[in-house]
Amino acid sequence: HGTTQSPAAANDGVSKDIPCDDVINLDNGDPTMYESFWKKMGDKCTVVIKGYESLSYFSNPKNPCWFLEPKLEESIKILHGAVGNAVTDGYTIVVGTGSSHLLNAMPYALASNPQPNHQINVVSAPPYYSAYPEITDMVKSRLYKWAGNAHEFDKDEPYIELVTSPNNPNGAIQRSMVNRDGGILVYDLAYYWPQYTPITSSLEFDIMLFTASKCTGHAGSRIGWALVKDKEVAKKMIKFMEVTTIGVSKESQLRVAKILQVVADGCKHFRSPKGDNFFETGQSMMKKRWNILRETVEKHQMFSIQNYPLQHCNYTGDVTQAHPAFAWMKCKEGIEDCEKLFRDHKILARSGKKFGSDPGFVRVSMVGREEEFNLFIDRLSKIQSFNNGDG
Ligand code: PMP
Repeated sequence: HGTTQSPAAANDGVSKDIPCDDVINLDNGDPTMYESFWKKMGDKCTVVIKGYESLSYFSNPKNPCWFLEPKLEESIKILHGAVGNAVTDGYTIVVGTGSSHLLNAMPYALASNPQPNHQINVVSAPPYYSAYPEITDMVKSRLYKWAGNAHEFDKDEPYIELVTSPNNPNGAIQRSMVNRDGGILVYDLAYYWPQYTPITSSLEFDIMLFTASKCTGHAGSRIGWALVKDKEVAKKMIKFMEVTTIGVSKESQLRVAKILQVVADGCKHFRSPKGDNFFETGQSMMKKRWNILRETVEKHQMFSIQNYPLQHCNYTGDVTQAHPAFAWMKCKEGIEDCEKLFRDHKILARSGKKFGSDPGFVRVSMVGREEEFNLFIDRLSKIQSFNNGDG
């Protein structure tokens, strides 16, 4: 009782009233918004695994990624083909326990033939996903190290640049920011799906990361995948998976395979009365939330949020704006700690500082449950009227 995320609410997806004085947690991007869609899908995604099935460590000994379930591989290819957001022909697919696992594998796989005491630099342009420095420096590797801001990186040394597009936290479409060639680029495309951003081309970068967490909302299954062009890099990532976890849960892979297949089937029809196009539903939910947020913010001059260009989406055929999974909000001049201001009003959000940016910014999840979002808008209005002296 009394929490915004009681196990009961998580299990049955039924809206529970959140007591008005409870803190709402919009600090992480827990994608519970999608529960309502999946509830409508009923038993369509149910996967039954019998007691004698999936015992083996191995999924497909013929595949270099021997722990990748063939059904998951197939669904990933079909889904990228149906959405048109990434090319899969000619790529090796490496599955991980979330794309976090793959992000851990990446610098190990890319730091080939290191010189003693010469770690490869890992950089990203702020505001960058707050987990990158943590993941990179966690084990104090001799192979790689976090080297911070990609804009400022000017050493004549090898580097890996993490490019997140659309970006977490600010939803911007990104490209490499280091002012020279010769680095290895890793594209984290967790949010390159139609509910968040117009799909403008089918990407073909050397290394691309995706995750079920943000694509379908199944963060709890912990499934991510990398599309890797260079077979040797893929082999080293696979080696990392072998040594750290001897592969990835088959139950999770089979469940996500089914979910992706259902999404791929439904996403071919637009405006179908069955309402089974996941991306269409997701996009209209995100759009509605962003419209409400913009209206709320525009009433006062206290916060500003990003504007996104209108672009043609090859998937929907429409010209649309982005509706990112996070709002990157800037407080007006004079408020130095935006996170604290939000916390004082019982909204947990993540400070700009954690993204290598300014504490005058805060990142707020837009993908929580409906009642959390409504309460957020309510409290945001109160912060604004309070600070304007009319509340
Ligand atoms: N990359 C980005 C940009 C993310 O925002 C996230 C999740 N917040 C991840 C990777 C990791 O996601 P997961 O491990 O759930 O796949």
